[in-house]
Amino acid sequence: MPLSRRQREALSRAAARGIDFREGAASRPPRPVLTPDELRARMTGPTPERGEDWTAVIDALADAAEPGLQGNTSPRFFGWVMGACHPVGVAADWLTGAWNQNAGIYDVAPVAAVTEEVAARWLLDVLRLPPGCSVGFVTGATMANFTCLAAARDEVLRRAGWDVAEGGLQGAPLVRLFVGEDAHATVLKAIEYLGFGRVNVVRVSTDEEGRMRADALRAALAGAEGPKIVVAQAGQINTGGFDPFKELPAICRAAGAWLHVDAAFGLWARACPDRAHLAEGLEDADSWSTDGHKWLQTPYDCGFAIVRDPAAHRRAMAIGASYLPEQVASLQPAHHAPELSRRARGFAVWAILRALGREGVAEMVSRHCACARRVAAALAAEPGIEVLNDVVLNQVAVGFGAGWDRERQSAAARDVVARVQAANRVFIGGADWRGRWIARISVISEATGPEDVDVLAEEIITAWRAVRDGAPLEAAAAPSHS
Ligand SMILES: *Cc1c(COP(=O)(O)O)cnc(C)c1O
Repeated sequence: MPLSRRQREALSRAAARGIDFREGAASRPPRPVLTPDELRARMTGPTPERGEDWTAVIDALADAAEPGLQGNTSPRFFGWVMGACHPVGVAADWLTGAWNQNAGIYDVAPVAAVTEEVAARWLLDVLRLPPGCSVGFVTGATMANFTCLAAARDEVLRRAGWDVAEGGLQGAPLVRLFVGEDAHATVLKAIEYLGFGRVNVVRVSTDEEGRMRADALRAALAGAEGPKIVVAQAGQINTGGFDPFKELPAICRAAGAWLHVDAAFGLWARACPDRAHLAEGLEDADSWSTDGHKWLQTPYDCGFAIVRDPAAHRRAMAIGASYLPEQVASLQPAHHAPELSRRARGFAVWAILRALGREGVAEMVSRHCACARRVAAALAAEPGIEVLNDVVLNQVAVGFGAGWDRERQSAAARDVVARVQAANRVFIGGADWRGRWIARISVISEATGPEDVDVLAEEIITAWRAVRDGAPLEAAAAPSHS
């Protein structure tokens, strides 16, 4: 049946508006400048009573939303750790929406399940992880941590003679978790979701780059009885630092502990020959979580829960019901992720991996890391600015006011970040790190190149000089909701 004119027009208009937006992304200020009230005024209205013209609705949505869109598709966006979504990912995602496949079950969406199977094989190959691992396509690293730690929980308790699915955690043998002091907040959240309780988490000390100390882990494990899970990290969010993976797997094995790695963006170092040394040894862990929507530049929302022992993965996640057909386990996506009905995330992953290839992924990661070193070198050459981390990956932690006291340094960093955001030619954020406020730079937007980080360095240095010299921040340039 041919589409009606209004169906066809609404779909084409959305494509045209999306293309226009992407075309302007590099020249638009990277941060929206409207206040929450201004945004509300654009989006609000009475509850719609009567249906409106479909194409007009799409135009109204785009007109109202565009001034409020965060510029993270821009090559000059360095805030947080967020991908820019590759154009082929956008295109594949449009098709995914149009196809509307429910990817949880092979019988319900056969080609979606097979595509995830193929994309998973490519991913494991590009990331140089064991080909026999199972991969759950989840919403992001938060749910990947949850999924992998659920598999870990069930397996370490099964080995202790306890069935969690049947007996729950109340009355189960006590499981102890070992987590680095500088782990990501979502790891602790996943631990909460899973019912372990923060009281059973041992925080393992870290070094100046936020890397877990191997000797501290060894000592902590030696003093613990019963089932154990260690959560290590590849890519600390401020420093990009990697836990000592040449040592951790053997330490965990000797203690009978499951080793999970939160590698939301750091895992991608393995895809890049000049960065792979950072993550060597990590392939000997039991599970890994990583994101698609960060370094692989997939659309939101996309992450991967990867488990060495597919049976443990399935025991934790499989959903069964009489109306759900039994299938070959590896072809049953819902056996590896928490959701049943969900988006067919595999199509965009498949398309981006084909568009970039192993070489393209390596080139992008290598370029981003080289850009991080380039901006770090430019900043370090400016008196008063300090690069606080060893720039091994794509993250740069920047301090201001070398030699000043902590409070003044923090105030200066907040001021520099505010000025850079107000000028709105590049975007950076800030964070607390090692007792002081810092500016954080994350080079991870697909198209970012040397010319973009040169502008970034210039913007930061200009802002720093103004702060140092006590120049007033022009109020007009600073949005009120910052
Ligand atoms: C981003 C990130 C997460 C959380 O990932 P989401 O995709 O936001 O769910 C977890 N760990 C690390 C190290 C991260 O960088």
